[in-house]
Order: sequence, then C-alpha cells, then structure tokens
Amino acid sequence: MTKIAKIGNIKIGSEYPIRIKGMLKKNLTDREAILKEALDLEKEGAEIIRIAVKDRNNIGILNYLKKSISAPLVADIHFNYKLALESIEAGFDGIRLNPLNIKDTNGIREVIRKAKAKKTHIRVGINSGGFKKRLSKEKLANEMVKNALEFIKLLEKEKFQNISISLKASDVNTTILANRILSKKTDYPIHLGVTATGTFLEGIVKSVLGIGILLNEGIGNILRVSLTSDSILEIKVAKFILQALNLRYFSPEIISCPTCSRTQVDLIRIVNEFQKKLNSLSNSNLPKKIAIMGCEVNGPGEASFADIGIAFGNKRAILFKKGKILRVLKEDNLIEEFLKEVCNG
Ligand code: SF4
Repeated sequence: MTKIAKIGNIKIGSEYPIRIKGMLKKNLTDREAILKEALDLEKEGAEIIRIAVKDRNNIGILNYLKKSISAPLVADIHFNYKLALESIEAGFDGIRLNPLNIKDTNGIREVIRKAKAKKTHIRVGINSGGFKKRLSKEKLANEMVKNALEFIKLLEKEKFQNISISLKASDVNTTILANRILSKKTDYPIHLGVTATGTFLEGIVKSVLGIGILLNEGIGNILRVSLTSDSILEIKVAKFILQALNLRYFSPEIISCPTCSRTQVDLIRIVNEFQKKLNSLSNSNLPKKIAIMGCEVNGPGEASFADIGIAFGNKRAILFKKGKILRVLKEDNLIEEFLKEVCNG
C-alpha cells in the first residue's frame, strides 16, 4: 500500500486507479495552439497535464488554461526554486522539482512551506540525464534512489506528505531497477516513465517494457509515456498499456490475426476501417473484446474468448458470439453489418 497524494482534485496511490499524465508540447506563446493541445489531451484521457515552466513569463498560461481545462495542471521546474515559489503562488496544482539541479536548501524549504500552505503537490523527479558521470546501470539506479530519498527527507522535515517520486532513465533496465529499489524503500506514490525513448516505434517498445514490467509487479501509481512524437499518441499508448494489463478499461479491444497466406481479404484495411468507425461510437454499451480474423479455419477458435467476432472466408465472413457461430455475413456492406451487430451486443 502506498500513501495517498493529491494533485488538484485527482488522488493518486494504490487505492486509486493508475493515473495518466500528459504533457503540453506546443510553444506556450501560441495560446490558441496550446489550449487546443490541452483540450485534446484532456479529451483523450490525460487526467493531469504537465507544463514545462522555463521562466516567469510562462506562468501566465495557467490562468488562461484554467478557464477551459479541468485536469490539474503541474509546473515542471528546473534550476530555479523562485520559479517554483511563483508557480505555487499562481495556483498550479502541482510542481515537479529536480533534486539534481535545485540545491539551495533554504530555498527548497521555502518552496515546501508554500506548497504546504497552498496544498500543492510536489513530485520529486530524477532523470538519468541529470548525472554528469557515466555510471554502471546498478550504480546509476542506486544514485537515483539515493538522491530522491535525500530530497524526501527535506520534505518530511517540514511534515510535507503530498509527494510522488519519479526515477526515469533512458535505459529500460535502469528504470526498472531504480523503481524496484525505490518501491522497497518508500511508500509514497510512484510516477512511472522511461525518458528520452526515441522515435515512435522504438519509444513505444521501451515505454511498454519499462512501464509495463513495473506495473505488472505492482509498482507505479501514475504514468507518463514519453515519445519523440505527438502528445496525444503518448496518452493513447498509456491507455493501451493499462488496458493490456487489465488495470483499467477504456475502449473495446480488437483481436485481429496477423494475416497469412490463408487470408483472402485485405484484412489490414478492413480492421483499420472498422477501428475508425468504432472510435466514432460511444463506448458505453459496446462489447469489450471484438475479433476480426482472417479465415474460417482458425478464426473462431482463436478468438473464442472474444464477445463478438467475424472470421473471413472468400467474399463472406461468419459471425460468432462467445465462440458460437451465428450466421454468415455477405461481402456487400459487411463492415456496416458487423458494426450493427457489435452495437446490438
Ligand atoms: S486466423 Fe487464419 S488467416 Fe489469420 S493468421 Fe490465423 S490462419 Fe492465417
């Protein structure tokens, strides 16, 4: 069990669902673009939104966003504790402090006291990139834990408990090791992520492994997927990770086969088209697992755990529910017909 932390109106900890955090990537000076990005992130499922606050000119974005965004907003602060003070004063729901680059103990104490008075959450966030020396994976993981816990002592001295901790490395194994060690030494909520993961596919694989392995061990209470890509995709990947591990449910899972030389239809196109149409529907009464299989030989068997599905033959598909064959759908209008069946449960 972890302690409970609170970022705005969102509670985090082992008693609560694993939360998804998003990050704004557009330039803060382009207010229209930044508001659109925040609204899109919120709509996609970001429960908390982080903003990189580089200087005091960035802080003004808070009031502008607060008019339209209900997700708690967190200021990501480096180097300058005064910026943290101003961000808390302005009303950010949380701040992230990096113990590797904010060292002024008196300044940090001031920040903690202000955060306590304003009920602002503090994430103690350490990234591997903050270490100047090259260290072995084990040494790096242990150094990350040590630095985080030393900083936590400062917070605890001020009787401040609204804390989460993140230890992120660009190396998956180091991230896993650091968080395993951390979880044995603390009961504050842990924020998971693999940092600087690279471009889209490689980044997804690293994030899924780093975050997924830890979640599967019961470690982690909030996560942020980090990709050199669109911020919305980060939320989609986060949702897929949580759903694949049965930790949260967001939308129907499509079970589709890889296709092989038995496939007689353009299954990849069909599945993508179906997915798009499904996305436009409300999720509330839809089956949780929908199968679209490439052949009648193995399709129904392979997808018997789906709530509803189709298995293609030549110019037709058989429709099955819970593994039982119901009827044949003809080629014309097949996707529409199947969608109707899906909507009827
Ligand atoms: S379900 Fe049929 S078409 Fe799809 S991969 Fe399996 S054998 Fe091939």
